[in-house]
Amino acid sequence: MTEIISALRRIATNQPDTIAVRHIDETLTYQQLDELSNKLASLIQDSKTPIVLYGHMSPYMIAGMLAGIKAGCGYVPIDTSVPDDRTAMIINKAQPEFIFDVSNHQLAFEQGTVLTTASLDEAENIAFEPRMKAEDIVYTIFTSGSTGEPKGVQIQYGSLVEFAEWMKSLNQFGEGLEWLNQAPFSFDLSVMAVYPSLVTGGTLNLVDKDMIKKPKLLNDMLQATPINVWVSTPSFIEMCLLLPTLDEKQYPSLKEFFFCGEILPHRTAKALAQRFPSSVIYNTYGPTEATVAVTSVQITESVLERFNPLPVGQARPGTTLSTTEEGELLIAGNSVSAGYLKNEEKNQAVFSETDGQRVYRSGDKAKFEHHHWFIQGRIDFQIKMNGYRMELEEIESVLRQSDLVREAVVVPVYKNGKVTQLIGAVVPAQTVEDSAQLSHDIKQALKSSLPEYMIPRKFVWMDQLPLTNNGKLDRKKIAEEIN
Ligand code: AMP
Repeated sequence: MTEIISALRRIATNQPDTIAVRHIDETLTYQQLDELSNKLASLIQDSKTPIVLYGHMSPYMIAGMLAGIKAGCGYVPIDTSVPDDRTAMIINKAQPEFIFDVSNHQLAFEQGTVLTTASLDEAENIAFEPRMKAEDIVYTIFTSGSTGEPKGVQIQYGSLVEFAEWMKSLNQFGEGLEWLNQAPFSFDLSVMAVYPSLVTGGTLNLVDKDMIKKPKLLNDMLQATPINVWVSTPSFIEMCLLLPTLDEKQYPSLKEFFFCGEILPHRTAKALAQRFPSSVIYNTYGPTEATVAVTSVQITESVLERFNPLPVGQARPGTTLSTTEEGELLIAGNSVSAGYLKNEEKNQAVFSETDGQRVYRSGDKAKFEHHHWFIQGRIDFQIKMNGYRMELEEIESVLRQSDLVREAVVVPVYKNGKVTQLIGAVVPAQTVEDSAQLSHDIKQALKSSLPEYMIPRKFVWMDQLPLTNNGKLDRKKIAEEIN
């Protein structure tokens, strides 16, 4: 096991001035990253709970992660796009002794001592011996939970190290590369870029939310930095492929693509392979509960020819995959999370142990054919939209908490097999007089608890929600009526 902190220290000694993290003009070299994380670690060294890292694409977020590892307490990343109520819920669950706030939001945190970058000025630069052990929790990432409360997925340090090693073995272009990270740090897809880049002495380039909204800014960033390795959701590359200039001629440095988090559509992979014929493209699969990704396949010309839909490939070393009689994918091995933070009921439902190995019931339907795993949808109401994972039941639960709503169901609208928008079917608490106003008011009510991407775009009003013969909510009928 190549311990991450020792690897980073070696890089900081051998190439101190190499840029480790870049966000537009803001950079941290390996030496700066080492020093800043030493300083922060010295401030939080006695913490018994993980440090909360609050911010967006600041290089200081990475210093915060390393400080959490050095101090041995681990970290909980929260992106600034997370609504305040949800942030409060996460903080309440994590009970941090320290919050490292690198945002300009000036949130009033009700728990923990708030540290900022200014707090590091006077702190001691102590070279910590790595305190974190393989079984310690390195990070806790919160994902959508069906009861209306986000679930904190706890990942052990040993699982992270194993994951980073595996990514190193997949990467075909060696050390010192320019990596692109698209996902906010509160999504574990970011882990796929952060650690593989850092442990190989590369430079991590951060894509922020403005670049995602405005392709021109993204284009500027790509022009300014010769990216070699791209890590994103398939939805993000689909959006980027709308830039007609995104091809091998314009971006000859771009050699490798890693995708994870949702279906990689065949047509997207094919279009990308046509634009970048000499690149290496990987489709990887995994839930946050199994340390980012547990399978991979290189999407070669022959894979594109043989398979549509595309497979997700084979399991990585140390992880075993199998299916239940109903076809649900079970993931076993070191990659599996130590469980959700303070959520015994959910832990009992999805985590177990067999032959000394942790096992996670993924909720994904899967099959193994022609030496490849294929993912075939969900057995529950979890969906992915633009790469974001969400439980429809969580949105419904928050909707029901509003005084304006008596009953509610959220229906995903599909186009070419992908969810393009959400529609809320609502039984209003009172007679609807102004439909537009009611939609607006409900959306406002949801905003304080749910991220923007989980808020239904449209609402339809119903007198009552239809039930099936056995008295369950008839989601199929509602979906048919709406579509
Ligand atoms: P998350 O925890 O946000 O990474 O979401 C995990 C879920 O995303 C999985 O359980 C799958 O349903 C879906 N998913 C992730 N990667 C893939 C993939 N390559 N193909 C199909 N579905 C995927």
